[in-house]
Amino acid sequence: MGKDYEKLAPKYRLLLGPGPVEVASRVLNVMSNPLYGHLDPKFLEITNETMKLLRYTFQTENQLTLPMSGTGSAGMETVMVNLLEEGDRAIICVNGVFGERMRDVASRCGAEVISVEAPWGKVIDPEDVRRAFKEAPGKVKLVGIVHAETSTGVKQPIEEISQIVKEHDALMVVDAVTSLGGVDLKIDEWGIDACYSGSQKALSCPPGLSPLTMGVKALEVIDNRKTKVQSWYLDLSMIKNYWSKERVYHHTAPINMIYALREALLMVYEEGLDERFRRHQLNSNAFVAGIEAMGMKMAVEEKEYRLPTLNAVKIPDEIDDYQVRSYLLDKYGIEIGGGLGDFKGKVWRVGLMGESSKRNNVILLLNALGDALMQQGYKVDFRLAIEAILDIYDI
Ligand SMILES: *Cc1c(COP(=O)(O)O)cnc(C)c1O
Repeated sequence: MGKDYEKLAPKYRLLLGPGPVEVASRVLNVMSNPLYGHLDPKFLEITNETMKLLRYTFQTENQLTLPMSGTGSAGMETVMVNLLEEGDRAIICVNGVFGERMRDVASRCGAEVISVEAPWGKVIDPEDVRRAFKEAPGKVKLVGIVHAETSTGVKQPIEEISQIVKEHDALMVVDAVTSLGGVDLKIDEWGIDACYSGSQKALSCPPGLSPLTMGVKALEVIDNRKTKVQSWYLDLSMIKNYWSKERVYHHTAPINMIYALREALLMVYEEGLDERFRRHQLNSNAFVAGIEAMGMKMAVEEKEYRLPTLNAVKIPDEIDDYQVRSYLLDKYGIEIGGGLGDFKGKVWRVGLMGESSKRNNVILLLNALGDALMQQGYKVDFRLAIEAILDIYDI
């Protein structure tokens, strides 16, 4: 056992996949601080500050803004189980794996789900959402959409769809797992009623928490439910009484994860949202320029709909997906993501989020990828990639 343990001791990896991503040492360090009890006044101060920092990051005044225990999927499930009841109608937008997952979760709540679809790699067309409302046989309670579709690298414009949702007096639900802290996301200004994210993506924290925010309209819907939320663990009507003045025990808060999230959010605050979005865009632009200079293409054709946090690259025809990813991992200790669903074997997913979004990482990855491709006989001059990105970085 002892020897095995040593053998399994984690080694350094450069995480450039869809998450988890790099975590700053100051975030890892606070996780080893002594534990407080979850009702200790000192810990409650930390939770208060965490909520404040989350409001800053979500760009919202919403009182109910807190980290749910669990990963991003727990946030998705929390929103759906609290807002939907048996027989409700929901429009779910699907153009990738996470839209599919949202549709699955909504239908498990007993809702009648209407899908609005777009091909993988394309955005959802607001007119299709308008048509879905028109054709729906009755009242639609909510519309769910993914802001940053991590399976395809699509950045979905939110405002126009949110406007349509408002016109029909429905709730706007947004999955911001791969955008919060890396891509502009304005909860209040864009009229988003409920939104959730994950700690291990652009916030650059270990996995385990799901930041969530809900506005008053969504809270009213919860207050007026006819039935109890079917999930005891994710019932916000109880959880909100811990994350407020009442401080009623519901389940034990994951103390050390909250230390970590607070520290990661402090880093977001210190950098400033505008600067952080600029950095993510710059590093993504450089990466894309390098990929294109090497003769490859991005999976999302239209530039304005590409996510800076998750860069999906089309795998050249003659190249073996798995061989390249194993080579990067074995020779360089670099992890990138493979394709999911329809994109399996067809794209690489390169995460440049949070701490991973750095100039040195872009340069290293392009070189390493060039090397891996040459090993498979792909003709590429990756000096061209370096020239292309030096222009972008202006060095
Ligand atoms: C990662 C991700 C999720 C799920 O998050 P987990 O932390 O893996 O549970 C949901 N939606 C999107 C868009 C994601 O990228």
